[in-house]
Amino acid sequence: MRKFISVVTLLLSSASVAVAEQPLPLEIKGTLTQGALILAKSEPGVTATLNGEPLEVTSQGYIVFGFPRKSPLENTLVVTKNGNKVTRKLTLESRDYKIDRVNGVPQKTVTPDPAQIKRARKEAEKVWLARQTKTTRTDFLTPVVKPAEGRISGVYGSQRIFNGEPRNPHYGEDIAGPTGTPVKAPWPGNVVLAEPDLFYSGGTIIIEHGYKITTTYLHLSELHVEVGDKVQQGDSIGEIGATGRATGPHLDWRVNWGNERLDPALLPQLYQN
Ligand SMILES: [Zn+2]
Repeated sequence: MRKFISVVTLLLSSASVAVAEQPLPLEIKGTLTQGALILAKSEPGVTATLNGEPLEVTSQGYIVFGFPRKSPLENTLVVTKNGNKVTRKLTLESRDYKIDRVNGVPQKTVTPDPAQIKRARKEAEKVWLARQTKTTRTDFLTPVVKPAEGRISGVYGSQRIFNGEPRNPHYGEDIAGPTGTPVKAPWPGNVVLAEPDLFYSGGTIIIEHGYKITTTYLHLSELHVEVGDKVQQGDSIGEIGATGRATGPHLDWRVNWGNERLDPALLPQLYQN
């Protein structure tokens, strides 16, 4: 009888442990600053919101999102599952963006005529559409490699003044290199745009990596891929050039979360411990 009681006690105590609320795991990778892509890991089956807006969660419980160039500094990530909830305040470091004077670009790309404006608008729509592609690929879980080696000749976020006229900020990382230098896929992915001659960006490729993450490659002299191609990390997708609004050969590469333009220079920090 005594033995029976002790077994019952044991069962009860282990049951009470199982019922007690286990905190949901939540690990955050990435730099808490404006322009950063963030990778959070919880567990399968959770739902998540950022500042009250729903976020998508992969089947393994990863949550990928980004903070734009001028993002508010105070943000709240909430992850829930079966009544369990974790709230994480994400306080960003603010960034100062430099003013960047670029002289010597073709004047038509600074003050386009009405026909060129019309053309550029149509192209922007195509680019916008390509970035709406949504799949459940999780290429961003693979540690990123740089698409080209070379001197960094332009950084994310800088306020651009072209031939003396203020224009949109710069959203990419520029890597200088001779025309013909291969451009390599930094992650595996799915080619959703491959255009040899867009008005502003010249030879342009967009690759999607799942969950609204895309990367973009501008000013290419040659394209080695077509829409629908699946690329592996390190595949040569094209060659550095100076097409579109450029003063010399360089790769301008970008990363987006949906329509939010993020800083590609911060990506390696996603994979540090
Ligand atoms: Zn650039």
